Amino acid sequence: MNPDSPAPRAEPRHPLEERILRDAPRLGPEDTFRFGCRPGISCFNRCCADVSIFLSPYDVLRMKRRLGISSGQFLEQYTIMPVHGAMKTPIVLLRMRDDAGKACPMVTSEGCRVYSDRPWPCRMYPLGLAAQRAAPDGDHDNRFYFLLCEEGCRGFEEQPEEWTVRRWLDDQGIEEYDQWGEAFKELALHPFFEQGGKLNPQQMQMFFMACYDLDKFRQFVFQSTLLDRFEVDEDFVEEMRYSDEALLRFAFLWLRYSLFGEGTMRVKPEVMEAFQGRLDKGQLFGR
Ligand code: SF4
Ligand code: SF4
Repeated sequence: MNPDSPAPRAEPRHPLEERILRDAPRLGPEDTFRFGCRPGISCFNRCCADVSIFLSPYDVLRMKRRLGISSGQFLEQYTIMPVHGAMKTPIVLLRMRDDAGKACPMVTSEGCRVYSDRPWPCRMYPLGLAAQRAAPDGDHDNRFYFLLCEEGCRGFEEQPEEWTVRRWLDDQGIEEYDQWGEAFKELALHPFFEQGGKLNPQQMQMFFMACYDLDKFRQFVFQSTLLDRFEVDEDFVEEMRYSDEALLRFAFLWLRYSLFGEGTMRVKPEVMEAFQGRLDKGQLFGR
């Protein structure tokens, strides 16, 4: 388990983040640490309670599919979505149970019931990942790992095994999550925000639906005129009907186009003409 956020947040740094950047020993891929977590360890499941777990769009996709429920049901039942003025993009957190123990809703006496689809922070622990802000020369590759040790975690003491950082990340299946994380950063850490840009409430809703409420976004894609307006490969359109991953890829491209004016989508020539007044828009969309 790991209390850090997998989702990039375009917000001021928390003092804890500042301390980590300043003081934590920095680990690279070949550095080693000793840790072991398994059923039967005296602290089993202790870490799966009363923690703030930020969920990325890909975490939500994996967990809702694993549970066999819609994204809307998942979000309503298992998450909280805090809203405050400093937020640049929507934030989704796993909702702990509303009782004294504040256990994660996914934990059972046998362990995590979504283990193979557990979110990024739960995979990473005991590693944390931090990054300095991008250097002025545009270098973004300034990430480093550091060790977290949650209170009561006996994984460093009871029969720990030696790991390199690289082997741990491989063992936990992090690469796939990191690829989605990088794609999401193109949105959530877009220069638009650095330059002081703010999304209006409607754009925030659009962002939220496309990134997190994928089943609702699928309805929007197939029941609106969206696909009539853009050039999208036919095979890819078919893939989006059943593949959440294809739909999420499309969501990221569409948001970059619509929110930030990037050239990630191409408007159909006839639509361009219509908007330039040469064609009848009603005729074009069959209205
Ligand atoms: S999702 Fe699973 S691993 Fe993560 S806190 Fe909940 S029970 Fe623990
Ligand atoms: S060893 Fe640490 S990570 Fe594993 S169950 Fe115990 S508290 Fe959780």
